[in-house]
Amino acid sequence: MNRKAVYAGSFDPITNGHLDIVRRALGVFDEVIVAVLRNPAKDTALFDADERVAMIREALADLGDRVSADAFSGLLVEYADRVQATAIIRGLRAVSDFEYEFQMAMMNRHLNARVETYFMTASEAYFYTASKLVKEVASLGGNVSALVPPVVQRALLQRFGGKQPA
Ligand code: ADP
Repeated sequence: MNRKAVYAGSFDPITNGHLDIVRRALGVFDEVIVAVLRNPAKDTALFDADERVAMIREALADLGDRVSADAFSGLLVEYADRVQATAIIRGLRAVSDFEYEFQMAMMNRHLNARVETYFMTASEAYFYTASKLVKEVASLGGNVSALVPPVVQRALLQRFGGKQPA
């Protein structure tokens, strides 16, 4: 049996915390798809979905062919069915993630009981790593090189390179 999982999120942009979860997921599942949610209605993203997927692909390049990147719109459980995945992976950091993640897992189970949600925790080194914070720090000229893959660091520098804190 091929155990395929979807690791879904906004990944705006992908961080080393996300990549840590991907590595752990590859230890449990045969195949992992990192899936970027396209959400044009409420998208205040820094990078568009295609840019995010391209950065993820580059960041995953040394992790082998059991992992891939994709983008989807609509319901995650429907996407999971379409790609024949039976698992959704989500990462948990602090307790603050829990309530929202629990709600989503319950809703997804209600919508499609064939797909099971699995929670994983990253290394404590990435406990405080969040895309939002990474973007904020980078926009103020801070160094985030330890928190993101090189492709993301370059992209952030390109976006914010000229800007210096006031
Ligand atoms: P965020 O913008 O909060 O970083 P995403 O929607 O891109 O979140 O994240 C996708 C999934 O990865 C979510 O389940 C999120 O909780 C999880 N995640 C994000 N960063 C980390 C991290 N540093 N460690 C563990 N899980 C994480």
